[in-house]
Amino acid sequence: MNERPVRVRFAPSPTGPLHMGGVRTALYNYLFARQHGGKFLLRIEDTDSHRFVPGAEEYIIESLRWCGIEIDEGVSVGGPHAPYRQSERREIYLKYAEQLVRDGWAYYAFDTPEELDAIRKEYESRGETFAYNSAVRTRLATSLALSAEEVEARIARGDQWTVRFRMPENEQIEMDDMIRGHVSVNSSTLDDKVLYKSADGLPTYHLANIVDDYLMEITHVIRGEEWLPSLPLHVLLYRAFGWEDRMPRFAHLPLLLKPTGGGKLSKRDGDKLGFPVFPLQWTPQDGGEGARGYREDGYFPEAFVNLLALLGWNPGNDHSEILSMPELIELFSLERVSKSGARFDPEKARWFNAQYLHRKSDAELAALFLPVLAERGYGDVPVAKVERIMGLVKERATFVGDLWLLAAYFFEAPQSYDPKAVAKFWKDDNPEHLQNLRRQLEVVEDFTAPNLEAKAHSWIEEQGLPMGKVMNTLRLALVGSSTGANLFDIAEIIGREEFLRRVERAHEVLGEGR
Ligand code: GLU
Repeated sequence: MNERPVRVRFAPSPTGPLHMGGVRTALYNYLFARQHGGKFLLRIEDTDSHRFVPGAEEYIIESLRWCGIEIDEGVSVGGPHAPYRQSERREIYLKYAEQLVRDGWAYYAFDTPEELDAIRKEYESRGETFAYNSAVRTRLATSLALSAEEVEARIARGDQWTVRFRMPENEQIEMDDMIRGHVSVNSSTLDDKVLYKSADGLPTYHLANIVDDYLMEITHVIRGEEWLPSLPLHVLLYRAFGWEDRMPRFAHLPLLLKPTGGGKLSKRDGDKLGFPVFPLQWTPQDGGEGARGYREDGYFPEAFVNLLALLGWNPGNDHSEILSMPELIELFSLERVSKSGARFDPEKARWFNAQYLHRKSDAELAALFLPVLAERGYGDVPVAKVERIMGLVKERATFVGDLWLLAAYFFEAPQSYDPKAVAKFWKDDNPEHLQNLRRQLEVVEDFTAPNLEAKAHSWIEEQGLPMGKVMNTLRLALVGSSTGANLFDIAEIIGREEFLRRVERAHEVLGEGR
């Protein structure tokens, strides 16, 4: 049945910034397409004009681009089934709605939203809930209750109507999901969904989605779990249209859960715990509330893609967690997607970024760090020196934005001294030992880390001094705290003169200890 070339689609509605769960859906579709040598489509489902948000489509496209998810066909690139924006396909859908009415799978309903509201309220007052289904459709103003002439007359005089699906009664609908396995639902639990509205001349999501998947020759529908309740209707629509042999296979992805595990990951969780839930920063055009994004927070797109891929899927125990896009394409499988929700761990997200940062070469990091340096007025530092510094500090960094704080002392003398380190090391005879050590080191001819280290160690040992204390006192003078890279690398990089200046200055500022 599915020997057709693989074609999958990401079909977001432009209702706001794309949630990271949506990016994951796009990513899984993309991985699946690439693995099977198939096509990845982007279709914009914008038939619900009330929920349209300006800028959302551009945001979706930019998010995919940032993640390296390449669109083969669709909005922004075109293709043989263009247009790929449903609002531009509006004249396609009416005939399909009419076909279903003709074949007895759907009917016209003439109730206005106000009338439906009134019926709903009436039910509520009796403690019941109203559902538009087989129990009421022949008693309301529908083409199943009214005469053919009446229906025609109403349509001709411009009354508003909808086309509703005529859900079969008490039928067991059998479905297969590639992740969840066999699913079975009784049709009597389902209502008659609206497929088309004359008011705006547009189909609803269900009709447009099925018609377009069919016309665009989609073979696999990989989407979020929230669409599972729509699956019975979708399966019946394929049957109603006589397209069952072309029905795609379905895979419903698990939810992304809050860090605490309970419930769907929301923007509020991110705001509370300080992490983004969107790929890019979002600035609404209407001036409403914006949101932070992974890109602007300093994540590498490769790290974001990697962490997202592993939220709900894993490659098995034999594989590293650090996986590039080509590796993900090779390893991905829907069979290994979990049925249960995937808990998002912001700490783990940062860990992924750190892994990618540590794996960058010193040259790559230097290229990322040079603009930061230039902004701080150190634009003329030789690249080789910056590369060496990157090699010394990168292990401690999670983001490129951390690098300045970790490397500042290579460029600037300490402005102040960490009081804790001062209390701990700038005491007893340590300042005096430091002066003596300085005298030893300032005459080292070739002022390099190995030479300085050899000299310092042998002198400290000869004198019988406590190595740790003397070294930490020197560190305090050079760095201003008890952290930082190897001391002798620091000394070599800042150079003899600066080394002497910093030791001198520590004595000036901190005095001679006690
Ligand atoms: N437009 C739907 C959404 O916003 C698409 C669901 C589907 O993939 O069928 O997620």
